[in-house]
Formats: sequence, structure tokens, C-alpha cells
Amino acid sequence: KTLCAAGIVVGLLAFFWRDTFNPDSISGARVLLTGASTGIGEQMAYHYSRFGAEIVLTARRGTLLQKVMEKCLQLGAKKVFYIQADMSSPQAPEEVVQFALQKLGGLDHLVLNHIGGTPFQMWDGDVEHTRWLMQVNFLSYVALASAALPILAESKGSLIVVSSLTGKISTPFTTSYSATKFALDGFFSSLRHELAMQKQDVCITLCILGLIDTEVALEKTRDKVYMSAYPAAEAALAIIKGGATRAREVFYPWWLELLCCLRDWFPNQRDVVIQSFYNYTSA
Ligand code: NDP
Repeated sequence: KTLCAAGIVVGLLAFFWRDTFNPDSISGARVLLTGASTGIGEQMAYHYSRFGAEIVLTARRGTLLQKVMEKCLQLGAKKVFYIQADMSSPQAPEEVVQFALQKLGGLDHLVLNHIGGTPFQMWDGDVEHTRWLMQVNFLSYVALASAALPILAESKGSLIVVSSLTGKISTPFTTSYSATKFALDGFFSSLRHELAMQKQDVCITLCILGLIDTEVALEKTRDKVYMSAYPAAEAALAIIKGGATRAREVFYPWWLELLCCLRDWFPNQRDVVIQSFYNYTSA
């Protein structure tokens, strides 16, 4: 009986976590990707290219975007353009969406991925930095999504929002960053309801990532976090698959979903476990 029950559980897990991704669904898709010059965004650009997408890349550093664009073309992207933009400027989101519309003639996937630089340390009372980070990590996402929604509604497209475990469960040394990521969940999960109520066929995929081995993340967390970092290329693929299969949420690595299920049941134990992953003497 135990074996039979275990078999049923495994079967159910395999059913719910089965891979329904069809790479052809991205061939020729028109994609606007933010934070594309480095890290997970850069890796997403390469995956989209292998799948034959048409891409607009954006970030601040033109020299890096130029290099990413060249590699994308080698990897098989149908079209690639880039536009330099600083998302701390309130005008940037509208300009970037208009550029993408002009170059691609429409939009199927909007991938919101960029983040502003923020220290990984104990709260030091810098409210101005929090305000600025809210602009880059949250308000610019809202503005990009607002500008692109009518276009995505036409194409029945996907809005993909890259977030973090710290946008679901609070962790040390991430006060302002965590606030921006919780804000994304609040805004975009509410918007998802409203789109469904209006019968608009735009899907919103919120991506919850654990520690990923990007240069910036590894540098910041060195000697402060006892956790293994997962590969950026795999995280990037998980995000793309989630958007293409119109998933509500993506968890990478997968076990973060279990952690999030447990978060409200055992709050005291959860906080003790979280604190055990961090070295506060070096922060
Ligand atoms: P990186 O720091 O490697 O890349 C950030 C990207 O954002 C770069 O392309 C950068 O390019 C761009 N950017 C920075 N500031 C601005 C700005 N003011 N305006 C426009 N673009 C800007 O980040 P990751 O790849 O690590 O993170 C990608 C996403 O994954 C983020 O949403 C992050 O929160 C999430 N995530 C990452 C984790 C990790 O461990 N790495 C863990 C959990 C979530 P440029 O400097 O050229 O502008």
C-alpha cells in the first residue's frame, strides 16, 4: 500500500511538472527583453536567438548590448536590435516600447528583467536609495507593461516578470530590493485578475528565482550566504519556458515552490532556517 501511495504521489508530481514547452512556439516571436546586457538577461537573449525569435534588447551599456546582439545573430535570431535606456528615467519605458514596436511591428513577449544596483548589507537608513530603486525595479516595470499592454492584447502575448525568492519570503540584507520585488507580486498578480475579468488574453508569468551564479550576485553574496548558486543559463531557460507555456508562476530551482507553500505555516521555524543561511558578521 505504501509503495502504491508513493507511486501515485510521484505520478501526480510528474504530471504537474511535465514539460509542455514547444520551442516552435517561440520561432519568429517578437520579444522585448530588458536587462539584456549581462547576467540572466544576456542568457535569455541567447536562448531566444537559438529558438529563432526576433528580439529588441535594452540596458544602459551600448558596448555590451552590441556584443550580445552580434552573438544573438550568430546563434540564429531572425532579427535583433538594441536600444540604450536608463530605467531610472521616467521617459525611458515609453521610448523603449515605441522603439520595439517600430522595429518589430508588434510584440509577443515582454520580458521585464533589469534591476538597479543595490548594496547587499544591513539597512543603513538611506531612504533616497529605496526611492530610486523603486523607480528602476518597480515603477519602470509598471510603465513598460502599461505601454505594451495594448500591443500584447492584440497578439494574445505574454508579460514575463522576473522576481526573486526575496519577493515571496523576506531575507536579510535585501530590505529595499525585497520591497521592490514584493511590490511586483502585488501589482502584477492583481493585474492578472483584472485581465481575466476583462477577458483579455494576455498572460502574466511571475518568475521566482533563487541564488543564480551571475557575476554581480556571486560578488555580492560571497562570504555572506551559505547557499549554492544555480546556473544563469538554466534560470534563463526556465523563465522562457514559463512565459511560452503561459504559466502563472515559475520557480527556479523547482523546490522554491515547496518553500513558498510552507512559508505561512511555520513562520518562526522559517525565519530561523533563513537566518542560518546568512553570515551577519560580514554584512
Ligand atoms: P545583473 O546585475 O547581472 O544584470 C542586470 C541588468 O540590468 C543588466 O543588463 C544591466 O545592464 C541592467 N540595468 C542595471 N541598471 C539599469 C538601469 N538603471 N536601467 C536599465 N537597465 C539597467 O542581474 P541578474 O542577471 O542577476 O538579474 C536578472 C533578474 O533576475 C533580476 O530581476 C533579479 O532580481 C533576478 N534575480 C537574480 C538572482 C541572482 O542571484 N542573480 C536571484 C533572484 C532573482 P546595464 O548595467 O548595462 O544597464
